[in-house]
Amino acid sequence: MNCIFCQIVEKNAHAEILYENDHIISFLDIRPVNLGHALVIPKIHYTDFLTIPENELDEIFKATQKVTSAIVDSVKPDGFNIVTNNGVAAGQSVFHFHLHIIPRFDKDNFAFRPIFKNYENNSMKDYANKIIAEIKL
Ligand SMILES: [Zn+2]
Repeated sequence: MNCIFCQIVEKNAHAEILYENDHIISFLDIRPVNLGHALVIPKIHYTDFLTIPENELDEIFKATQKVTSAIVDSVKPDGFNIVTNNGVAAGQSVFHFHLHIIPRFDKDNFAFRPIFKNYENNSMKDYANKIIAEIKL
């Protein structure tokens, strides 16, 4: 498979690896928003958030907390974002699921700049009901 992250897992592509266990690998993003920006990926190739089995999610989040803690202690950011982009519309560019750990600094000039929408004509309740109907218990 021609997936750059799978190649990193297999050690066929170089990455600055921060942490690795049987389930995940974490390495520095080669295009950091801020220095110390890291990625956490499952070793198995899953396209996006919705295709990951629950037990793997646990491993990903545990490892993400461990690496984030190390970034906070070493890079000393003022805060951090943990984000995952899913789908082209959301900015996903490598289709092997990954979480970004982005160290943030006061006045680092990086921001999500949302233009907030309004729910018109009681449509908030409609959206809620539509979503609730699809929740699988
Ligand atoms: Zn992959």
